[in-house]
Amino acid sequence: MAVLVRQFPELLAELAPSPHRPGLGRRRGGADRHGPSAPLRMRVCDTVRDITDGVVELEEAVHDRLGLPPAGKGSVEVRLGRLAGLLDRVETDPVLMRHLLDEVGGMARRCSDALGDAEPVVRLRGRCPLCSSVSLRAFPLRGAVLCINPGCRCPQPDCGCHEDRTHRHSWPEAEWGELVGRGGTALEEITAAVDGRSTAGAVGR
Ligand SMILES: [Zn+2]
Ligand SMILES: [Zn+2]
Repeated sequence: MAVLVRQFPELLAELAPSPHRPGLGRRRGGADRHGPSAPLRMRVCDTVRDITDGVVELEEAVHDRLGLPPAGKGSVEVRLGRLAGLLDRVETDPVLMRHLLDEVGGMARRCSDALGDAEPVVRLRGRCPLCSSVSLRAFPLRGAVLCINPGCRCPQPDCGCHEDRTHRHSWPEAEWGELVGRGGTALEEITAAVDGRSTAGAVGR
């Protein structure tokens, strides 16, 4: 959700020179197919529309399931903020939580794809404190460090890394202390990687 909140405005920025208002779900047919950037513009436009619709539907589904009155109007960012505020309640309903994770994950992927670049990743030198592999990567967009070893799980059964095979254990900034020392990762290396200030030392080998 954090990735989507950060990237969606970038997607809108891609559309900025365009005269029509993004996010309203208005399809312009072939009218945009002019000029060298037209195909990209179309793809971004489609993605903005799909994510806007998707977030509206997701919020409706969540409110419906939790027995809340219909959600008010709001931009994608506002709606995502409201959904984030309901996460505690959503978590008590595993089916709904699963649905929300699938939907938001799918939208975040589409957003990254339309922006034309996979999420940046910076390799860290130290070892994972859980599995001892050299598999720690910093993800600047999430502001977090992940262990990319598919078999790595932490001891907490309710942690997201036990969710399914595609989830990886992650350390938000408050937990980076766990990575320092034991595995040989320096805190400066992590902060530099997440801030995008890392040099070849962090990215190389
Ligand atoms: Zn690991
Ligand atoms: Zn975990």
